[in-house]
Amino acid sequence: MGLVFGAIEGGGTKFVVAVGSGPDNIIARTRMDTRTPDLTIPACISFIREASAGHALGAIGVACFGPIQLDTAAPDYGSVTNTPKPGWAHTPIVGPLQDAFDVPVGFDTDVNGAALGEWRWGAAQGCDPCVYLTVGTGIGGGAIINGFPLHGLLHPEMGHIPIPRLTWPNGQMDDYTGFCTYHGAGCFEGMAAGPAISGRLGQLGETIPDDHPIWELEAGYLAAGLASIVLALSPRRIVVGGGVMQRSDVLERTRRRLRETLAGYVASPQITGDQTDYLVAPKYGQDAGLVGAFALAETAFTVAKR
Ligand code: ZN
Repeated sequence: MGLVFGAIEGGGTKFVVAVGSGPDNIIARTRMDTRTPDLTIPACISFIREASAGHALGAIGVACFGPIQLDTAAPDYGSVTNTPKPGWAHTPIVGPLQDAFDVPVGFDTDVNGAALGEWRWGAAQGCDPCVYLTVGTGIGGGAIINGFPLHGLLHPEMGHIPIPRLTWPNGQMDDYTGFCTYHGAGCFEGMAAGPAISGRLGQLGETIPDDHPIWELEAGYLAAGLASIVLALSPRRIVVGGGVMQRSDVLERTRRRLRETLAGYVASPQITGDQTDYLVAPKYGQDAGLVGAFALAETAFTVAKR
């Protein structure tokens, strides 16, 4: 009867649930479409109960889409808060899991979870503080500081860092209006996430050739957001994942543009050099959220034992 953890990656379109002693030793795993909470949460509970039978369940970790309440002093701690996702606004997540299992529940944003997982087992081992940023249909970031995800007033919202308008490689000003409903053309996500790429050109990113100037523009915007992260949090490494980063040489272009944007001010060789040990791809890629949930479970277990 070995010690196992339950891991839940709660996403807006899918939930991935697993049981195992860690991400490299998973004994059962499933994936389900995200339905309403009254269907999805009991399905997670049933799966963990069956898969952990015969083992000692030590803790559960949930890496969840947001926004979520992480303030343990708040009456709605452990809930999804004001999401536009139908049926999910003000939904308790931690409470039903604790009621069902009576074990510690680690709960955090999907990106804070991913950051913790990459720090614990992945591409950011030994780097504290570190940041995990995902660039896909949106932009989100999490940070690990002193071994724990950074919380505070709420949780980091790196996707909405203000950034300047940039020029195309031919010198023409980018006139895209941005797609963030809050900030228009004023923020990182609105100008640099996947929909901003397809929105500028009227075609899906997948169909845009590798030598199109949009990728250089994109790298400039990514560098603008990343420069703020470097300057504000001083991470020792930044892991950058998500669909946009899988495109050809976006990562390499972004390293160069980040060097140029910081203009030698951050005189560390990690920044002024080739950045291959600084701005890096994730180890876990598509599994970053699930691995993060395992890391959250393990951390909750360790803290509860103290
Ligand atoms: Zn925004």
